[in-house]
Amino acid sequence: METINARVGSLMIGPDAPIAVQTMLNTRTSDVEASLAQAVRVADAGARLIRLTVPAMSDVEALRQIHSRFRALGYTQPLVADVHFSPDIAMAAAAVVEKVRINPGNFHPDHAKARERFAALLEECKRHGTAIRIGLNHGSLGRYITERFGNTPEAMALAAMEWVKMCMDASFRDVVVSLKASNTVVMIQAYRALYRMMKEEGCIFPLHVGVTEAGNGDSGRIKSAVAISTLLSEGIGNTVRVSLTEPPEAEIPVAAYLASRYDSRVEAPQLPEHERLILEASCDYGKKLLDREIDDVSFPGIPDGDKLADELMQACRRRFTKPEYIACPGCGRTLYNLEETFDRVKAATSGFKGIVIAVMGCIVNGPGEMADADYGYVGEGRGLVTLYKGKEPVLRHIPQEEAVDRLVALIKENL
Ligand code: SF4
Repeated sequence: METINARVGSLMIGPDAPIAVQTMLNTRTSDVEASLAQAVRVADAGARLIRLTVPAMSDVEALRQIHSRFRALGYTQPLVADVHFSPDIAMAAAAVVEKVRINPGNFHPDHAKARERFAALLEECKRHGTAIRIGLNHGSLGRYITERFGNTPEAMALAAMEWVKMCMDASFRDVVVSLKASNTVVMIQAYRALYRMMKEEGCIFPLHVGVTEAGNGDSGRIKSAVAISTLLSEGIGNTVRVSLTEPPEAEIPVAAYLASRYDSRVEAPQLPEHERLILEASCDYGKKLLDREIDDVSFPGIPDGDKLADELMQACRRRFTKPEYIACPGCGRTLYNLEETFDRVKAATSGFKGIVIAVMGCIVNGPGEMADADYGYVGEGRGLVTLYKGKEPVLRHIPQEEAVDRLVALIKENL
């Protein structure tokens, strides 16, 4: 069995290295000053790998400036370009940063062309010593994946394996793979299936583990922790991102706690007492609930123990006591104040138990990433919002000031 350690600039990701904590900036990449300042803050907070969105070719030049100024300040953390919908941007970014993340679900709409362009990207990455992340998301598998494999966890793993095998055929080893979902059961099943398939293939590539669109606050932390800790406890996962709809600095101690709990080479972070309590409970009971070894939890001796039990049960999809929220963490594509809006949506919809509500930062990726949401609030830009019912945009160009009320009305009409 071959186990791969991927070289990403100064960082090694794989079984021979400590689990690496990473995050993604939520600034506009074109705003070089803001992005550089945030990169410095997350690096100082402990991020060992930092990702930035690269939505347009013009952002590649901004990326180059951020990269060189970050290095001039003495920071060695590799930077990662997050690229969707454009093999050309991925090629350009491969010459600038240490790693490029592409999503097979939206790399190119035509399957044959996607393979061809990916082969060219691997050659470009080899030339520059750049690593690749093959990052599939359950919500954005793309038509040629769902038509061939379906959209189950097993299908996600099969789709990822096609791209992994292309890397193997090209003798390209600096590869990290992720299969994220906002549904914790889907997420752990997908990673377990991929790990099994890689083992059967005789070659295990490093895995980036995370729950996508986990939301914020205790719910976002608990949802991330139950699923990530389940995988890490099984030896699955070499780098961790906890996606929260909060400033990226807030993600670092949560990810560091999870990494340090399952890898003695990672230093444990200092946490406030409440955060430590909910993360400990998530690690202690998450896997047992997800794998149905136990059917309930209770915390009679601690303040708000019932609330913690409800959060854990919902994160593990065992009992639903409130709406299920999907919210992206925001990035350089985000077109409004996502954190504040998400809190307003949660406050206005807390009574709608059992439905899934998504709050997404942009109209480019948001609708595709909402997966199985019943309703979606998606930023269009210029203060406007599109509201979705399932996958259908039912109300477009709604002024942001009215959008939360219109969302509530839409849900009530359909109850
Ligand atoms: S959905 Fe959110 S995180 Fe994803 S690209 Fe759009 S704004 Fe960024």
